[in-house]
This record gives sequence, structure tokens and C-alpha cells, in this order.
Amino acid sequence: MQVLVTGGAGYIGSHTVKALRAKGHDVWIYDNLVYGHKQAVPQDRLLVGNLAEIDRLDHFFVTHSIDAVIHFAAYASVGESVHNPSKYYLNNVHDTLGLLELLRKHHIHRVVFSSSCAVYGIPPKTPITEDMPKNPINPYGRTKLMIEQALDDYAQAYEWGYASLRYFNAAGASRDGEIGEDHRNEGHLIPLAILAAMGQKPPLQIFGTDYPTPDGTCIRDYIHVEDLALAHVMALEKIEAGTHLNLNLGMGKGYSVREVITTVEAVSGRQVPCVEAARRIGDPAELVADPTQAMQILGWQPRYTDLAEIIQTAWKWHSTHPHGFASQ
Ligand code: UDP
Repeated sequence: MQVLVTGGAGYIGSHTVKALRAKGHDVWIYDNLVYGHKQAVPQDRLLVGNLAEIDRLDHFFVTHSIDAVIHFAAYASVGESVHNPSKYYLNNVHDTLGLLELLRKHHIHRVVFSSSCAVYGIPPKTPITEDMPKNPINPYGRTKLMIEQALDDYAQAYEWGYASLRYFNAAGASRDGEIGEDHRNEGHLIPLAILAAMGQKPPLQIFGTDYPTPDGTCIRDYIHVEDLALAHVMALEKIEAGTHLNLNLGMGKGYSVREVITTVEAVSGRQVPCVEAARRIGDPAELVADPTQAMQILGWQPRYTDLAEIIQTAWKWHSTHPHGFASQ
């Protein structure tokens, strides 16, 4: 298939591009490189541009025969979305609707959408199944839910096939060590713990030690980025006109912040300097996926089922790229 991957130079996007190419798909990447890295993707396949540049995208669709789009391009910081919601509604919703309109114009009816477990808000129980209420508690989650709903309506009305993939916590790096996680203003637990162990970042703050969990810290479901990437390829190959898929992607197993820290220490053989801090606003105590539907419908199975193995790949990437892609 000829596939356009928006946001394909980002963390999950670049791993998906790699997985698509490994399966023989013909891939183009559209990314503004604000958060993405040109080193993460084949540069002869990269078009640098914003989602809002409709004319450029229109020209691209006129000159390329694209079968499907995987749409990652979005802002993804929960805290920022609370303080600057217009940035999120404009890019994640308005500009995405502009993209969908172009897809309509060019008769491209197959879409895989990068969604998030943030659409659930605070779940009534865990593990979370797809039919649980969708009550996002921040603008980021609301933007993801809005596009899920738009896709659902477009699929009904225009016979599109789509898959909205609701990720839990993406982690790790490619097994071959080529690409990994390099976020500007890194805020995620695993890279921050690793970088603190390497002495590259200040001591890790543990956000909240009084949650109603066994050790008082938040529990999350960490899924290897290559497993996520593979699920995108499988979803793409599965969907056809009329397919509506909303699927959780997680390992189905939760780990607390303290368990993550202990695992980083075991993998790296170094201590992770830590300080206990207040809860971070908007963090639910426990988010764990029930990934049964993705397994049954796509035939997908996470290959990484052990947190230490996931962290091992992240450690390898960070220790060989102490300054991220700039180390190359
Ligand atoms: N966390 C933490 N210290 C940090 C970053 C994150 O204690 O410096 C916690 C955070 O409160 C959450 C978990 O680690 O419970 C995972 O956070 P992350 O930002 O990696 O992913 P999120 O769950 O927000 O998508």
C-alpha cells in the first residue's frame, strides 16, 4: 500500500514507519519537525510541513496515489493542553478535520488514527475495556475523542474504514538501537528515570505517594513502542470500507512508579536519584488496558511482556544516544 504517515518523524510515528517499510509498504512522511526528528526517518521520504498547509497536502495527494493515512500529527502534552487549549483544539481538531476533508476530496477512505487512553478520563475500574464511558478530564483527551467521533460519523456516512488506537504508555526503543524516544522538554517517567540515572537530568520527582495503590504511587500500563507500531500495520491491513475499530493498546499489566524506578535501577546497574513530590494534576491512580479486542480482532500480541525487557531497549538507546538524535 502507499501510505502517508502524518507526524511520522515523532516517537511512535517513526517506529510505525519502520514497521510499515519492513512489511513492504510504500511510505511517505509528513511532519513539521517541531517535535519530530529528521534522523528518525528515511529523508528521501520526508515532506516537512504543517497540517494546516492544506494546499501543500492537496498537491501531495494530487501527485501521489495514496491508499491510506496513518494520522499521528498532534500535540500530546496533557499539562500544556490545560494551559493552552487553543493550540490543541486548533491543531488536533481543526487541522485534523481539514485533513479529513482532503481525504474525502481525494477518495482516500482508509485511516488509522493515533488516539489515547486519555479518552476514558478516570475509569470506573481497571482493566479498561473499550465500552467504558469516555469522559476525558483534559483538553488533550477531549481533542482525541472528538476526532474518534468524527471518524465514526465519516465511516457511517461515507463508508470509510478506520481504526482509532487508544494507547496506554508507550515506552522503549527499537530493538536494533536505531531509533528511540527523544522528546523536547521530556516529561515521561521512563526516559526521565534513565536520564536521572545517567546524571543527565536532575533527580526524578515521584509525583504523588498517597494514591490508593499498594505502594502509594500511580500505576500505568507500559507498552513497547515496536508492539504499538506493529498494531498500526495490522490495523491498516485489516480495515476496509465500513470497518469501525476503537481498540485499546496496552500490555494489560500495570506497574507503579516505584516499580518502574526499581526496574530502571536493575537494568542500568545505577541508582535513580529521586525526590518525593506532590501529585501531578490530572493523573488518575491506575490506568491499565484490557487489550483483548486488539488481540482478537487484529490477531495482535505484544511481543514484549516484561517491563525489564522494555526498559532494556530504552536504556540501550539512551546510553548510546546521551543527547538523543543530536548524538548521531
Ligand atoms: N511520573 C512521575 N515523575 C515524572 C514523570 C511521570 O512520577 O517525572 C509519573 C506520572 O505521575 C504517572 C507516571 O509516572 O503516574 C507515568 O507518567 P508519564 O508522564 O510517563 O505518562 P502518562 O501516564 O502521563 O501518559
